[in-house]
Amino acid sequence: MLKYNYEKGHLNDIAAAKIKELTAELEGTDKFDPVEKIQNGFAQFKKEIYEKNPDLFGELAKGQSPKFLVFACSDSRVCPSHILNFQPGEAFIVRNIANMVPPFCKTRYSGVGAAIEYAVLNLKVENIVVIGHSCCGGIKGLMSCTDDDNTASDFIENWVKIGAPAKAKVKAESHHLDFTEQCTSLEKEAVNVSLGNLLTYPFVRDAVAKKTVSVKGGHYDFVKGTFELWNLDFGLSPPLTV
Ligand SMILES: [Zn+2]
Repeated sequence: MLKYNYEKGHLNDIAAAKIKELTAELEGTDKFDPVEKIQNGFAQFKKEIYEKNPDLFGELAKGQSPKFLVFACSDSRVCPSHILNFQPGEAFIVRNIANMVPPFCKTRYSGVGAAIEYAVLNLKVENIVVIGHSCCGGIKGLMSCTDDDNTASDFIENWVKIGAPAKAKVKAESHHLDFTEQCTSLEKEAVNVSLGNLLTYPFVRDAVAKKTVSVKGGHYDFVKGTFELWNLDFGLSPPLTV
């Protein structure tokens, strides 16, 4: 049985290689080469940035002390380092579908929790910025998905439902708007939910109350070419000291 599978696998390999060869011939020489893209990209970065900034990269070799923790969407069009010109060492960045900050949960959201904990307690970032964006597919998904537990995806709907309170607010307040306008509104309201969720992390709440960390929301519109930034007043007062 093992032998049969091996031989079958071997034949499949040969067939796959032949198909690849034929496809390459048909596609000509313009075929996208991911390895070449990565090698050329790094060569250009090394020549234009790394080798021209030995002091900066010498400092970064010793450690990092970024001023920002940034949450941004995984969307390929909204890289914070590009749109806000963050240089290496300036921003600790978490990217996920629809730039969500989930509420504190040690088991369900440990990946995000670890990043926030490390940024706030170890790196001592002074600013946390959550950035939403125009045409966000994750937000469209949240706006479109059913409110019950029936999901068509393994992860996506359950993840974007972190923003469900924002969806409820938009549906209640913006029912006169069309779907696209509601989505734009939800892109911003979901950021506000994330800002509120940040305060469910005790170390963030403490830092915000002591004013060692400021929390801001942002929205990047790549259709209009605009960037909005706002504060959310949580009405937190610093802990009383005796
Ligand atoms: Zn997005």
